[in-house]
Amino acid sequence: MSSCKVCLFVCLTAVLGAAQANPPATSNEKRPTANMGFSADMLDKSVDPCTDFYAYACSKWKAQNPIPSDRPSWGRFNELQERGEYIMRDILQKYTNDDAKRSAVEQKIGDYYESCMDEGAIEKLATKPLASEMDRIAALKSKQELAPELIQLHRQGTDVLFSFASTQDFGDATQVIAEADQGGMGMPDRDYYLKDDPKSVELRKQYVAHVQKMFELLGDAPEKAAAEAKSVLTIETALAKGALDRVSRRDPHKVYHKMSGKELAALSPDFGWDKYLAGIGAPSVANLNVTEPDFFKNLNTVIDATPMDDWKTYLRWHLVHANAPMLPAAFVNENFNFFSKALQGTKELAPRWKRCVRATNGDLGEALGQKYVEETFGPEGKQRTLTMVNTLEKSLTQDIQDLPWMGADTKKQALVKLQAITNRIGYPNKWRDYSTLKIVRGDAMGNSQRSNVFEFQRQLNKIGKPVDKNDWPYPPATVNASYNSTLNNITFPAGILQPPFYDNKADDAMNFGGIGAVIGHELTHGFDDEGRKFDPQGNLRDWWTEQDGKEFEKRAACVADQYSGFTAVDDLKVNGKLTLGENVADNGGMRIAYMALMSLLAGKEPAPVDGLTAKQRFFLGWANVWCENRSDPFSRMLVQVDPHSPGKWRVNGTVSNMPEFREAYHCKADAPMVNQNACRVW
Ligand SMILES: [Zn+2]
Repeated sequence: MSSCKVCLFVCLTAVLGAAQANPPATSNEKRPTANMGFSADMLDKSVDPCTDFYAYACSKWKAQNPIPSDRPSWGRFNELQERGEYIMRDILQKYTNDDAKRSAVEQKIGDYYESCMDEGAIEKLATKPLASEMDRIAALKSKQELAPELIQLHRQGTDVLFSFASTQDFGDATQVIAEADQGGMGMPDRDYYLKDDPKSVELRKQYVAHVQKMFELLGDAPEKAAAEAKSVLTIETALAKGALDRVSRRDPHKVYHKMSGKELAALSPDFGWDKYLAGIGAPSVANLNVTEPDFFKNLNTVIDATPMDDWKTYLRWHLVHANAPMLPAAFVNENFNFFSKALQGTKELAPRWKRCVRATNGDLGEALGQKYVEETFGPEGKQRTLTMVNTLEKSLTQDIQDLPWMGADTKKQALVKLQAITNRIGYPNKWRDYSTLKIVRGDAMGNSQRSNVFEFQRQLNKIGKPVDKNDWPYPPATVNASYNSTLNNITFPAGILQPPFYDNKADDAMNFGGIGAVIGHELTHGFDDEGRKFDPQGNLRDWWTEQDGKEFEKRAACVADQYSGFTAVDDLKVNGKLTLGENVADNGGMRIAYMALMSLLAGKEPAPVDGLTAKQRFFLGWANVWCENRSDPFSRMLVQVDPHSPGKWRVNGTVSNMPEFREAYHCKADAPMVNQNACRVW
């Protein structure tokens, strides 16, 4: 798992590398049913909703839905993901035969999936598909040759030393520029290398053992492999020391340093930046964003201090690590043992078909997505969602106009920004053209690497061109949603526009608490602690009066303090600063969804359903989408890397700030779900 790139878009839920491992055996298949909507039977009547609303709404679901052995967690999101994986498999299986009648898209997705599934061929090839790259690494003679080798590895999707891509210029969002960012660490965050608590120390030991085993699988003797693994940890720890922490990376000013190629080269003069920039495949790079200059300064020290043989070891490790999913089972299983089992608490590898569905969707998401959309999402789905988005936008407009703490000038600017938000619903207007990407039957590794090269080049090709607003950040089958600060738009893929988020059969109250609040959440991101720093055109520009900026910070600090008091797992508290943007978005999203529902109902209280009023059902619609079970190791990992709070606090934290909740459930003033010091930003 590579370290996270600067997150230009904020999502509804964590985006993590799919567990890369897969098991050969299929357990008893339990195909999720199409109906995953809300049922009042799932309420735990033994719990007072005013004491623990999450337990009231979710404890029965949690008891009845243990974590499947091939996952680190299980929640309503995952049910929907799993259902999507079955749908995608059905689609893919239609195109696996080598049939001349297949369209170009059908050939690509069918042959990619078929090759991935062909474990016999993969076993037979063993590590041969990596041989030529391994030879290149072995032949490296001096540190001057690192740059050309990095070009090769970066283009194939191997994360070594740092990452290189394109990005919208924070200073001028109409422009796309190159970007160099921190990277090159095998574990998910720099803190895994730097923290000294017993759990972190133990994980590092397991990591080193894992790296050693991977070298042994490549044929190295155990003693040599052990020494190599230590070298890898030494290098990655040195990189981690120069890396910026996750909370700081949420501040766009801290990750925006535009400079020339020469200035970058001056930060790490012993890395051959001239060669790298000339050969990486980008148009001539006049200016680029160097997210963290200190990381690149430190990089120079690391390059100097590390013997050439250790660099070769490090590159070999990352090459085998990045390609493990398409190598024989021994590699896949060992990869699983650390990255899924030790790190996330997953008990067994997902069946191969799931891993191959995920890989196909990851590499050919807009090819497979065309078929997925045909089957699951029609034009009417798009229309329904757009109508809801418009309704929510009206509520946010009203909310901003009524805000007591914001002055008229800032309000005016905020409304201009809100008006400028554009919506992308369901799937892209124009599908990505994969015609230059060659998918070869029987070449699983080659397909994966060529897909990486294709995507890498596609990103670099954007440099110096006008921003393509139609370019989607993830495939339409994704169960997620996002807001992008530099594009000032929201994206709702077809994958999420289904129960339990949106249910045709449910009443408005449930749907406004579900997808309505999710839409509100994404809109609010434009005005959270990070989003508010960008203007309607997506430029990093302060449009707030000083006074209003202070008022915002005061209210945001209330939210940060509140969530920092919540326990995530065992002794670990939620990081209120890391999760601030998401918590502000949850609270704001729920508020405007509630306003939208009230304006739709226009004072007419519908008859209760299952004994629950519309207002009560609205809050249940929200709780319903966050029911989840997580393994303890996975919870510990998410506390460090995930900007979202755990489901329990996304629900209880939000409702406890809303007097409307207290009213709906007739809670006493001192009930636990009534925050005495209620926080409210939007
Ligand atoms: Zn979000």
